[in-house]
Amino acid sequence: MPKRCRGCDQPLTKDNDSDAHVIPQALGGRLAPRGILCSKCNGVLNDVADLPLVRAFGAWPTLLDVPRQHGKQPSKMVETRKGYNVSLESDGSMMRRDVVYDVAPIPDGHNVVIGAGHMKTARQLIAKAKAAFPQLDVAEAEKHLKVVALPPDDEIKLSVDFSPQAVFGGILTAVWIFLIHTTGRAFLEFDALLKCIKSMQEHGGTFRYFVEELPGLKGPTVRFGHKVIARSVPATGELIVYVEILGVLKVGGLFAKGLPGHELEHVYAYDLAQKAERSSEFTINGALFDVQDWRKAGLGIADAPALRAHFGDVLTSLSEIYYKQRLASVSSADGEEPQSVKPAT
Ligand SMILES: [Zn+2]
Repeated sequence: MPKRCRGCDQPLTKDNDSDAHVIPQALGGRLAPRGILCSKCNGVLNDVADLPLVRAFGAWPTLLDVPRQHGKQPSKMVETRKGYNVSLESDGSMMRRDVVYDVAPIPDGHNVVIGAGHMKTARQLIAKAKAAFPQLDVAEAEKHLKVVALPPDDEIKLSVDFSPQAVFGGILTAVWIFLIHTTGRAFLEFDALLKCIKSMQEHGGTFRYFVEELPGLKGPTVRFGHKVIARSVPATGELIVYVEILGVLKVGGLFAKGLPGHELEHVYAYDLAQKAERSSEFTINGALFDVQDWRKAGLGIADAPALRAHFGDVLTSLSEIYYKQRLASVSSADGEEPQSVKPAT
């Protein structure tokens, strides 16, 4: 009996079966079971849930060089506080992308200033100057092009949008795929899942944000990684879920009710710094976990100032560890200081 797609109920074959990423590939991926979704339905979930979640992280995955299973993080355009456009590469380098063309008369003739992010654009601007000033020596002008860094006191602005509207759909999708993978059960039909994602994107949802470790979770400190946890509380029959992405975004809460006596506990943990799954090192202390009021645990969206401060702190500290150290080791060779990085507030 071939497995059927949980979205459209078509039989899954080697041609239409797809990797159902629990955490989007752009955010580090890893756990991606097959035999759950056809590529078409997977594409639907990708568009409605994964893309908004990936966009919510802005240029951070590139800045932190989050290791992907396939390929590299793409370069991202970011803006600096002084208004320059910079392209950020996954190797940590930054290049100004501003296009400048400025002509000013000086006693001997004209001073032409040209700036561009690409040689192609720079050459086009030189050609433009040549048309206006036929005496311009193009080869000489090209020889004088040089790489310009950011002013040392400038900073790039990296925005994040961890609002329920931006991220809860992706969290719900991660849980949905994870539960099918671990229990074989969907808990929500595909259509209901899509409705639920839409409702969360329009009205927010009941999930909560966690800033400390999840109550009752015991295990090693994994600062830069993913976790997905599902546990039913025996006394209430509630199914509690939790998703942590890059060690930054931690969201969880009540996922389903009406499972009394139904015992379910699944913990997945992946360490991106070590590139290793570490699920078996974690356990849940039921005495602590089960007594939480999951409707009030952690922070809600009403605690926006505390949440903003938390995301600012954790991203800044990750950039200290995974960006500045990496860049310092590269730039000590050519004598450049690492550029500073701050989340926009
Ligand atoms: Zn399908």
